[in-house]
Amino acid sequence: MTPTDHSPLTTDLLRSLRPHQVLSSLSERMNYRYDAIQFGVTPLAVVLPESTADVVAAVRAAKAAGVPIIGRGAASGLSGGVTPVQESLVIAFTRMTALRIVPERREAVAQPGVVTLKVTEAARPHGLIYPPDPASFRTSTIGGNLGENAGGPLCFKYGVTGDYVKALEFVDADGDVHRLTRDCYDLAGLLIGSEGTLGLMTEATLRLIPPPTYSRTLMAHFAEVGQAAEAVSSAIAAGAVPSKLEFMDRACTNAVEDYLHLGLPREAEAVLLVDTDGDDLQTVDAEMNLVEAACLSAGGVVRRAADPAEAEALWQARRSISPALGRIRPQRMNEDIVVPRSALPDVVREIRALGDASPFHLVQFGHIGDGNLHPNIMFDPRTESSEAVHELAHKIALVAIWHGGVLSGEHGIGTMKKDFMRDAVDPVTLDVLRDVKRGLDAGNRLNPGKILPDAASPSTLVGDSQSRNAGGLAAGKG
Ligand SMILES: Cc1cc2nc3c(=O)[nH]c(=O)nc-3n(C[C@H](O)[C@H](O)[C@H](O)COP(=O)(O)OP(=O)(O)OC[C@H]3O[C@@H](n4cnc5c(N)ncnc54)[C@H](O)[C@@H]3O)c2cc1C
Repeated sequence: MTPTDHSPLTTDLLRSLRPHQVLSSLSERMNYRYDAIQFGVTPLAVVLPESTADVVAAVRAAKAAGVPIIGRGAASGLSGGVTPVQESLVIAFTRMTALRIVPERREAVAQPGVVTLKVTEAARPHGLIYPPDPASFRTSTIGGNLGENAGGPLCFKYGVTGDYVKALEFVDADGDVHRLTRDCYDLAGLLIGSEGTLGLMTEATLRLIPPPTYSRTLMAHFAEVGQAAEAVSSAIAAGAVPSKLEFMDRACTNAVEDYLHLGLPREAEAVLLVDTDGDDLQTVDAEMNLVEAACLSAGGVVRRAADPAEAEALWQARRSISPALGRIRPQRMNEDIVVPRSALPDVVREIRALGDASPFHLVQFGHIGDGNLHPNIMFDPRTESSEAVHELAHKIALVAIWHGGVLSGEHGIGTMKKDFMRDAVDPVTLDVLRDVKRGLDAGNRLNPGKILPDAASPSTLVGDSQSRNAGGLAAGKG
């Protein structure tokens, strides 16, 4: 196809959509073949819908042409969810940005292209917020958050994206529109986190809550990762429900310190950042006292933020992990395992040993309250082998599975982890998942090549992981 060629699909799309909604030149289409971690095949065409009717028209045209469809938000995904594995139609939702706040019902009605942060920005004047807070919330979209069931630091206390969905509208693989609430069979729940493989979300009714009045912040550092995990478990067992509970390993802390010079403890093997919040100051303080006592008795050194400015400075460390890591190597593979909290010390140690035995720089951080760990493998694709990176990611996935964990907490499976699925999910259950996919998308037109390993392809994983598998596909998050 030349840059100006119109394929039969494009010609058909232009019958029902306006010219500015259909991108057909090569230079335009090439901009829609990547996410935050990888490139895929250049799509055949790109549609920029402005309404559900536009999505229906695009899906029907793709069906008639026998072309697969990929729903795309901001492409900030970290698992290859939007990268085409074959010539496809990309439906990019970035122009579907209508957002309505209904304060009397504490609801936001959002089209999929609404940027996550905009929901809280629009709700705040009404005394409301939207808690799900992926670190990418300044760029990620509600559609992408629904596709991945995104979470963030606040999710330990407040829950993930799916916990805030009251109703969903979606377009199925045939171009039919459905409206779902969260009752029998909870089909909306099935679509949330399905990475665009079961339907295209065109509107969501989201639950809003009043923001907490007070918050407290603490940083603790430890000579051993085990001490940090013990502190977290004892604080929770004592009754504290922190609103944020984040972990950084020594390599991560040092990367951030090199970048920001905040005075972070470089020698510490583990740093915890903890917030408590609520409407009753005494309770908020009492919860933080429980956290502090648990940290001290586990051998930690504790620093409480004296005021909001100091709290902000401490959280700046957590928020700056991505840019700090970007200075180490141009690219990183961001793993997203979830393990039982009690297994964290062993898991962190085993993954550190894997990193040390590899040629790669590896850092670990994550939402420790949920046992959600992000080991990041840093590499330079110009000089380092992406196969070796993938192999190390395999080994990390196995560590999670062996410790009773799961492959993904919030980033999804995509193409990145679909090879690992055979080790995380038993063959009978995999067949059930394939049946679900067939039930909603018999022609395998919606985002093919994601999540489910091909029935015929053998496992690429090493070791007898099936027999040790106590884990699964994805954490229920939160
Ligand atoms: C620096 C950085 C930090 C991050 N931090 C977090 C974090 O803290 N927590 C977290 O959960 N994630 C995080 N992510 C990952 C990513 O931002 C999230 O997965 C986010 O939800 C993706 O949103 P998006 O709009 O970019 O979606 P995309 O990447 O465009 O799409 C993601 C998936 O959703 C599907 N999809 C998109 N729109 C629709 C739709 N309308 N209907 C059906 N399916 C659709 C796509 O097909 C794809 O499978 C981070 C990413 C980066 C780069």
